[in-house]
Amino acid sequence: MTTAVTPDTYYGPSFASLLDQDPQIAELLVAELDRQRSGLQLIASENQTSPAVLAALGSTLSNKYAEGYPDARYYGGCAEVDKVEKLAIERAKQLFGADHANVQAHSGASANQAVYGAFASPGDTILAMSLDHGGHLTHGFKVSFSGKWFNAVHYGVHPDTEDIDYDQVEALAKEHRPKIILAGGSAIPRLIDFERFRAIADEVGAIFWVDAAHFIGLVAGKVIPSPVPHADVVSFTTHKVLRGPRGGAIVCKEEHAKKIDRAVFPMMQGGPLMHAVAGKAVNFAECATSAYQAYAQQVLDNSRALAGGLDSRGIRPITGGTDTHLSLHDLRGVGVTGVDAEARCDAAGIVLNKNAIPFDPEKPNVASGIRVGSPSVTTQGMGPEQMETVAELIHRAVTRTDGDPDHAVAREIRAEVGELLTSYPAYPEPQAG
Ligand SMILES: *Cc1c(COP(=O)(O)O)cnc(C)c1O
Repeated sequence: MTTAVTPDTYYGPSFASLLDQDPQIAELLVAELDRQRSGLQLIASENQTSPAVLAALGSTLSNKYAEGYPDARYYGGCAEVDKVEKLAIERAKQLFGADHANVQAHSGASANQAVYGAFASPGDTILAMSLDHGGHLTHGFKVSFSGKWFNAVHYGVHPDTEDIDYDQVEALAKEHRPKIILAGGSAIPRLIDFERFRAIADEVGAIFWVDAAHFIGLVAGKVIPSPVPHADVVSFTTHKVLRGPRGGAIVCKEEHAKKIDRAVFPMMQGGPLMHAVAGKAVNFAECATSAYQAYAQQVLDNSRALAGGLDSRGIRPITGGTDTHLSLHDLRGVGVTGVDAEARCDAAGIVLNKNAIPFDPEKPNVASGIRVGSPSVTTQGMGPEQMETVAELIHRAVTRTDGDPDHAVAREIRAEVGELLTSYPAYPEPQAG
């Protein structure tokens, strides 16, 4: 190594050179940063990654081809990226107490594709949560590769509890004998009973796979139980509560290590995104700190406070509350659809998404619910007291505005959002150099 490592070795000047060479794109990057700073970000799958992770992402590791795995590459010149990937793998294994980690998946969907590739062949039966009860497109939904290539059978939630119907999971498993039983989803507010799933999978000889894309950050922060001791394989994203770079990863039992690695490369992907792998390594180290554990606890406390604040205003949380970073709310009590609520909040400076609720009478593009999450506002330092304010702002936007940004109440809410963000800004240090 001959280059002296100083703050502006290459990260510092990189934005200046973009601004100089391509002001059009540079301006859009700044505009997006302004957008992220100027609204209340409540999308449950989003977060604000650290400047350190952003530095790794904006690095020359993006230039390097590294097909294969450390010490077994198809290209020369991999000495440095080998060290990066080994660190990422070791840190992931340590963080999750896993036998094996693969850090190359480009995204959550790519990680899932690899898990299918490792354990199933086209035509095989898989059992997963239905999308309209909180699952994910990649869990066998018709328009996804997973629904086209596999025979997907779906379980859902029980109408009384609105939580996973484990008796139904067991009955469907016995009836259909799936190759894979998959737990996890994108709109599940409650903890998942991994022991029960493991027992059902063992009963029918299925692989037990947990897609922890949403909640893995809470596992990393040690504030909810881990699926890792129970599942054959756990796939996840690195950019949701976890707060790392956009990407995916897989951890598994030693016996599945080779299968998983071969499924990621060469079965599903080509060269890994080494800049993203570096970002994952940085993130995994961040997640092992007591500061991150305190963050994860605050995410939970805030999520409960937000769900409670909406509940007390007639916007009922599905299952009655939340054990995670997200809650799903039924808007029928206030007589507004999900699509209208999303638009009204957007016009008032509050970013969230409409979401189908279990047994939703509306079409998915209308929906009767909204999903809200606490990861971003918690990164900005907000606490339960601010969540009470946020709940009131959401309720006011949903019930007293009409989606027009010029509506007097929408203006008033935007001003109050702006005031709140003055005390709890996103990216308080200037990012552009
Ligand atoms: C977000 C998510 C994914 C997909 O992640 P991408 O990075 O968007 O591909 C997969 N599964 C679940 C449960 C998710 O929530």
